[in-house]
Amino acid sequence: MGGTNIKAALFDTGFAAVGEVSVPTEAAEGPEHVLGRIRYAIKLLTEDKGIGLQSVTCMGMGVPGLLDPREGLSLFSPNFPGWEQVHIVNELKPYYDFPVFIDNDVRVNLYGEWLHGAAKGHQNVVLLTLGTGLGSGIVSDGKVVYGTTFSAGEIGHMNMYRQGRPCRCGSSGCLGRYVSAVGMVNTLKEKLGEGRSSIIQTWTSGDNERITALMISEAYDLEDGLAMEVMHETGTLLGFGLANVINLLNPEVIVIGGGMSAAGERLLRSVRATVKEHALKLSASKCSIAQAGLGSRAGTLGAAAYAYRKRQA
Ligand SMILES: [Zn+2]
Repeated sequence: MGGTNIKAALFDTGFAAVGEVSVPTEAAEGPEHVLGRIRYAIKLLTEDKGIGLQSVTCMGMGVPGLLDPREGLSLFSPNFPGWEQVHIVNELKPYYDFPVFIDNDVRVNLYGEWLHGAAKGHQNVVLLTLGTGLGSGIVSDGKVVYGTTFSAGEIGHMNMYRQGRPCRCGSSGCLGRYVSAVGMVNTLKEKLGEGRSSIIQTWTSGDNERITALMISEAYDLEDGLAMEVMHETGTLLGFGLANVINLLNPEVIVIGGGMSAAGERLLRSVRATVKEHALKLSASKCSIAQAGLGSRAGTLGAAAYAYRKRQA
């Protein structure tokens, strides 16, 4: 469930995709409408394809924001106007006989990469979702970590600077303010504001509001000095963040997913160099940093795998 689109997929019990759809969320219309859009996506995947609802075993959903997965209750979702205390599971219950399970959107991606992707078979895993923001999901000793208020894994709010960019969490200097698509673009803008120059300015006719994270990767490939510096600074800061994560959790693998992971080795080179130099040697020597394997399907596949596990539990 995203702020722009609801992506839904139907899988068989071997987790091969039977069908996939994407419908506009129309989040501005409010919670009731969005719940209707979810039911519409289910209809497109099942009845409209001649697949009876009675043959559906279970359903999983990744929901952004704060939630209580045990209750099936979404407490708050930042990009959904009026979305507070929405009991998703109860709201859908009258329509379906199969059980519905919800979890945080990042954690659903974690289930995908852990059970079917780049972290398959590992007992200690950290998944980073690097996109417009920065999030993480954790598997520790074979169990997904939830925490007291189901908020474990908020790596985007790891404090990297005592004084730094303000964050909407109320603090400042949070990692996600720098290591995210928006954060990296802001770093470049700051440097342009100091009178530095980049080839990117010719691509945007000097309009800094048009700069994207992808442009920074493209300029990096042309050996643009400022783009390389921004990529290096961003990767180094992420490396310090991950050194903390490695020292704290001792994972076997850190999987990097999300739209900005397309920066790939441009970013990961500086991440790995920083981790090697600053994390505890024994822990770092046993931890690989890998790109996600499932791409945009991690969410839907992960939601299905999560629900299938929950239903058997
Ligand atoms: Zn924050």
